[in-house]
Amino acid sequence: MKFGGTSVADEAAIGRVTAIVRRQLERQPASDSPPLIVVSALSKVTDGLLQVARFTAEGDRDQALTRLGELADRHVAIAATVTSGARLAAVTRDLHAEFTATSDIVRALSSLHDVSPRLLDAIASTGELASSRLLAAALSESGVPAAWVDAREVLQTDAEFTCAAPDMDGTHARARLKLAPVAARGDVAVLGGFIGTTGDGVTTTLGRGGSDYSAAIFGACLDVSEIQIWTDVDGMLTADPRVVPQPRLVPQLSFAEASELAYFGAKVLHPSTILPAVSKNIPVRILNSRQPNLPGTLITADARSSQGTLTALACKRDVTVIDITSTRMFMAHGFLSRLFDVFERFKTAVDVVTTSEVSVSVTVDDARRVEPIVENLRAFAEVSQEREMAIICAVGEDIHDDPTAFGRAVSALGSIPLRMVSQAASRRNITFVLRDADVQQAMVQLHDAFFGTTN
Ligand code: ADP
Ligand code: ASP
Ligand code: MG
Repeated sequence: MKFGGTSVADEAAIGRVTAIVRRQLERQPASDSPPLIVVSALSKVTDGLLQVARFTAEGDRDQALTRLGELADRHVAIAATVTSGARLAAVTRDLHAEFTATSDIVRALSSLHDVSPRLLDAIASTGELASSRLLAAALSESGVPAAWVDAREVLQTDAEFTCAAPDMDGTHARARLKLAPVAARGDVAVLGGFIGTTGDGVTTTLGRGGSDYSAAIFGACLDVSEIQIWTDVDGMLTADPRVVPQPRLVPQLSFAEASELAYFGAKVLHPSTILPAVSKNIPVRILNSRQPNLPGTLITADARSSQGTLTALACKRDVTVIDITSTRMFMAHGFLSRLFDVFERFKTAVDVVTTSEVSVSVTVDDARRVEPIVENLRAFAEVSQEREMAIICAVGEDIHDDPTAFGRAVSALGSIPLRMVSQAASRRNITFVLRDADVQQAMVQLHDAFFGTTN
């Protein structure tokens, strides 16, 4: 059971979580293992810690420590509302210890004016370490037998700081060692999501939104019967509710559809969440912690949505389009491999690709290394780039059975200019690249055409 930041934002939210966990324990057969709880940092805390890291890098030690102090105070204040007596004293001491360790890092680094990715992860990990300690104490206080486990001692990763990848074998071995005894005692283990350590014990993070991924990794290692992602919406919706007013619930969808939607911007799931679930064929359920009685969305290997041709829309904003043109070289063999080798060297993923006789257009989401990429491509082609673009991805297992889907999508977009259009071999998605400024209007028009009028 994974609870996101808004699900543990304050006293009331933590109260809802303890009720949900207690209900799970009451409903499941006594012979079943207790659920494993994975929790994100409290709402906005990771943003706050990254701000602390920025102040530190700028050498603004006072601002960094003040901000960190505010974050510590927020946790301690909530602890006082969800625990009491000796338990309150213990969790307050633990919270102070976590924040003191981070303030020591801030003090040391602020005079250097430098925060490496490795230390950025150490600072960012404070959020999940603190929230998990708080939730474990709140569960115990409410009578649920719970034990805090340091997630860094379980989730083993590579050393790619700020976007580490799990080492599944290492994590499996550590999970057996650290989590099995907790379950055997009948305790609910509570761990922070998002954080892990390298084989040498150095703290890493899985990238923003990574707690969903942590839950799926632990779930696969423990062979659980279901991975539950508890969040602030009713489930996977037909579009991001911040972009399209009143999207509908998607009651079920396939692993492939969910991966596609998550990759192209449906933030409700971290893009890698589905991978560990697929490997063990474990169903993933998305549920609303404010409305725990609603059925949510069930994601399984071969589920079919009943929405019609499309299952849902997703959009990824602020992407960069790079056009690579070479009249001389394009038809020569080896050209594409040379081209993609440049992206590979700069560790930049390409999302959408289209080609014409003399040019290739690609989109990249991570623009940090675009300048050196363009420079290297210029060694053998003409290159131009356009920023402030967006990708819209329409996803549905049934697209390949409906020859009219593509035409309906294009006509729904009317006069909105399209920069690239693509339909992959799986024919599970239709992808449009357009100006970021047009994305909201385009999403609303597509949503109206395929899911009925929004208001
Ligand atoms: P949590 O803190 O629980 O991990 P997130 O903010 O990471 O929550 O993800 C939930 C948010 O994802 C929703 O509030 C919603 O704004 C956004 N979202 C984007 N696309 C979708 C979609 N297709 N369905 C549901 N939510 C979506
Ligand atoms: N707290 C982390 C973040 O804000 C991870 C997560 O919420 O899943 O990115
Ligand atoms: Mg999230």
